[in-house]
Amino acid sequence: MFDPRDHRPRADELAGRVLAVSGASDGLGRAVALAAARHGAELILIGRNATKLESVHAEISAAAAREPSIALLDLEKALASDYDALAAAVQQRYGRLDGLLHSAAILGTLTPIEHYDVPTWCRVLHVNVTAAFALTQVLLPALRRSADAAVLFTASSVGRRGRAYWGAYAVSKFALEGLSQVLAGELENLTQIRVNTLNPGKARTAMRRQAYPAEDADTLPQPADLTAPYLALLGPASRGITGQAFDAQR
Ligand code: NDP
Repeated sequence: MFDPRDHRPRADELAGRVLAVSGASDGLGRAVALAAARHGAELILIGRNATKLESVHAEISAAAAREPSIALLDLEKALASDYDALAAAVQQRYGRLDGLLHSAAILGTLTPIEHYDVPTWCRVLHVNVTAAFALTQVLLPALRRSADAAVLFTASSVGRRGRAYWGAYAVSKFALEGLSQVLAGELENLTQIRVNTLNPGKARTAMRRQAYPAEDADTLPQPADLTAPYLALLGPASRGITGQAFDAQR
């Protein structure tokens, strides 16, 4: 049975694949972008902070054969024309897309539903769900032009079983599971595009620090230690697997 946690990627496993990663500027998205490049993929680094993306770009360029692209997109503010411009740039430079990882997200606040700030709720749902939907939709034509494409949404344990006070963030992650299942059903048998979700589990990132400020960060795995399951789900190892929800840690 396929379990991405058992995956040990070959050195050149992603050679010849073009992958786009949202949230590539930091945390898990950054780590997966670096790992995917090391395993041969050409990367499109999507994010809102040019300085942070340029540092990822420099790190990849120093080690990988193919220079990555930077696509600036603020998921809170982007308009239809921004998404269209990104899709046009992908088409022009690569002609197709073999993988799309949605790692960008915001936490919002940990607050009881009774007191949850409505504008914050809307912002979290917009960045975590609506923007992921819009980005997927606009890149579907490029994904269709791949012989073997993967869409991967980043899940969370609070989006698989609800937990008190996790508010809009938990609801947004439940919504991504739904989006993934609906899209997987629509694309199965008709295209070569698979769609899955992956819950990374605890990781030493800015978001984790925001959620658990008093936690000893040394007890948490580094994002770089969690990349193999992502590569399994973005690369040829998961061919034929769609509509499923996976975990990166046991
Ligand atoms: P980070 O806070 O380290 O990274 C979040 C990423 O999202 C950053 O690249 C950030 O960009 C980007 N982002 C946020 N808002 C926007 C926006 N408006 N436009 C564009 N990009 C934006 O978090 P993690 O790496 O921890 O999280 C990655 C994924 O993993 C998320 O989906 C999260 O929900 C999930 N997750 C994380 C867990 C953990 O323990 N860390 C556990 C379970 C799930 P910038 O650098 O500009 O801020």
